[in-house]
Amino acid sequence: MTRIFSGVQPTGHLTLGNYLGAMRRWVAEDQYRADALFCVVDLHALTVDHDPARVRRLTRQAATLLLAAGLDPERCTVFVQSQVDEHARLSYLMECTATDGEMRRMIQYKEKAARERERGGSVRLSLLTYPALMAADILAYGTDEVPVGEDQAQHVELTRALAVRFNQRYGQTFVVPRATLPAVAARVMDLQEPTVKMGKSRARTAGIIYLLDEPEAVRKKVMRAVTDAGSDVVYDREERPGIANLLDVLAACTGRDPRGLAEEYDSYGALKKDTAEAVVEVLRPVRERHAGLAADPSYVDGVLRAGAERARGMARPRVDAAYRAVGL
Ligand code: ADP
Repeated sequence: MTRIFSGVQPTGHLTLGNYLGAMRRWVAEDQYRADALFCVVDLHALTVDHDPARVRRLTRQAATLLLAAGLDPERCTVFVQSQVDEHARLSYLMECTATDGEMRRMIQYKEKAARERERGGSVRLSLLTYPALMAADILAYGTDEVPVGEDQAQHVELTRALAVRFNQRYGQTFVVPRATLPAVAARVMDLQEPTVKMGKSRARTAGIIYLLDEPEAVRKKVMRAVTDAGSDVVYDREERPGIANLLDVLAACTGRDPRGLAEEYDSYGALKKDTAEAVVEVLRPVRERHAGLAADPSYVDGVLRAGAERARGMARPRVDAAYRAVGL
C-alpha cells in the first residue's frame, strides 16, 4: 500500500494556504487511498525565535484542526513529531549525508534567514539544517508520496537526493519519495501582497485568512484584497497576481478551473464577493468541528498518544537499520 507522510508547522495559526495547498487533499483523498501519516512538526517550530507556551498551544490547535478538517484517526495516523524520538535520531544521519552547500541553496532558508537578519536577530543553525529534519520525517516511514504545496517541493527534491545518496553509499535503506502538488492553489498568495505566499508566520496579518477566522473577518479580508490595475478579469499569474490569486482560491473552493471562472466575471467586486462566500462555506464546517473538539481535550490527547505510538512502531526498525548501515 502506498505510504504517505506530510506535516504542518505550529509556527502560527493555520491558514487558507495550508488548507487549500495541503490539508484538503489529505482529508478528501490521501487518507482513503493510502496508509497515511500526518504530523504536527513542532521541532521545526524551534528553528526561529519562539515562545514556548505559544508553540505548545499552537501544536495542540494544529492537531485539533487536522481532526476538525476531517482527518479520521481510524483511517490515518495523526501525531506530534516531538513525541516520536526517531525523527531527531534520523535527522542527525541526514545531516551526515547532506552538504552545507545543499542546505544553503534552499530558498526557504535564504528567505527566512534574511527576514531574521532584517529584524536584527541571529539565524539559528537549525534553520539551515531544517531540510535534514524534514528528510528524516519523510524517510523514517518509507514514504512514497509527500502531498505538499509548491513551497515545499524543493525540500522534497533534496530529500530524494539524500535518500538516493544514502542508499548508494550504505546499502538500500530508504524508499525514494516524491512530492505531489495540488492541481489548483499550489501556492496561495497573501491577499495584501499577492507576490508573496500566504504564510502563517508573517508579521502583517491583513492579507492572511486563518482557518478559524469568523465569517465577517473572512469577508472583510477578501473584499480588501489588493487587486491589479485594470478592471477586466483575466487569469494571468505574472501580470495580474492579485486577481489570479482570487481566481485560484475560488476555483479551489468550488472545484472549478480558474481560467473558466475568469470568463464568467466582468468586475472585481463580483469576483471578490463570490470568493469570500466560497471561502466562508469551505471553512464553516472546519470551524464548527474545531469548537466541538477543543471542548474535549482528552479525546484529542488520546488520538495523539495512539498516533505517536503507531508512528514510533513504524519508524523504529528503519531508523535502527540506518544506524547499523552507517556503522553504529
Ligand atoms: P507555513 O508556510 O504556513 O508555515 P508549513 O511549512 O507549515 O506552512 O506547511 C504546511 C503545508 O502547507 C505544506 O505542505 C505547505 O506546502 C503548504 N502551504 C503553506 N503555505 C501555503 C500556501 N500559501 N499555498 C499553498 N500551500 C501552502
